[in-house]
Amino acid sequence: MNQKNAVITGASSGIGAETIRALVEVGFRVFIGARRMDRLNKLADKYGATALHLDVTQKNSVQHFVDELPNKVHVLVNNAGGALGLEPLVYMNESDWLTMYQSNVLGLVRMSQALYPRLLADSRQVAHVVNIGSVAGFETYVGGAGYTACKHAVRAISETMRLEWLGKPIRITEIDPGFVETEFSLTRFGGDTVRANSVYDGMKPLEAADIADAIAWVVTRPAHVNIDNMVIRPLDQARIDKISRK
Ligand code: NAP
Repeated sequence: MNQKNAVITGASSGIGAETIRALVEVGFRVFIGARRMDRLNKLADKYGATALHLDVTQKNSVQHFVDELPNKVHVLVNNAGGALGLEPLVYMNESDWLTMYQSNVLGLVRMSQALYPRLLADSRQVAHVVNIGSVAGFETYVGGAGYTACKHAVRAISETMRLEWLGKPIRITEIDPGFVETEFSLTRFGGDTVRANSVYDGMKPLEAADIADAIAWVVTRPAHVNIDNMVIRPLDQARIDKISRK
């Protein structure tokens, strides 16, 4: 059987972890990367995926990861990233901003650059890059500038990929979720579970599976179809900062 190969970054939790399940279900052989190998190995065992250490902020780590991949990669899901802090601009924590930029923005480009030859290999088969953006890529909120600036950058990068790779057999999709209940808020608030849970007080957020299933859908469209963007929000969220809470 000629299985297609998919790579997921940031697959040790949340959207990335659920995307392993979704892509295995539609027939992909899946390669997963993140820093927490204990979690990655458990997920690899559960789904029959291949776990490889990956820190997208480190060029060497990206290169070691990519060296272990098959020559042809059909799908790259650039998912690794997240937010740190919620301070107003005048209290900017420069280290947090640099970390967010390194993972959400530079990490995404590093991975795409390193995998480009493998996406183009055997060009009779179309490849697909799925960038996980956010509604923070086109909306803003008080205290969110560090993260929203990163996701605005992701949006610009997805569009530029589509321009620069026009005529090449690579599809580019950006998926922009609203609130998804994952470890995202726990990471943002430095492990403060009470503060993290309060984000979803009285409202029903999306589940990681909602986004993972959308990823599986976009990559299984006919080869000539490119889904540019997909914005997915909970019913209870009209804008990033407009939530209906019971
Ligand atoms: P999550 O549960 O915190 O997952 C984040 C994943 O990224 C983890 O697997 C983490 O793994 C990985 N990661 C972080 N830094 C990394 C690095 N330097 N190298 C490799 N992997 C790294 O959060 P999530 O909600 O699933 O987030 C996934 C993506 O969705 C992010 O890009 C996030 O910005 C985006 N998003 C989330 C929401 C939401 O509400 N949850 C909404 C819109 C967009 P390790 O720590 O093991 O490395």
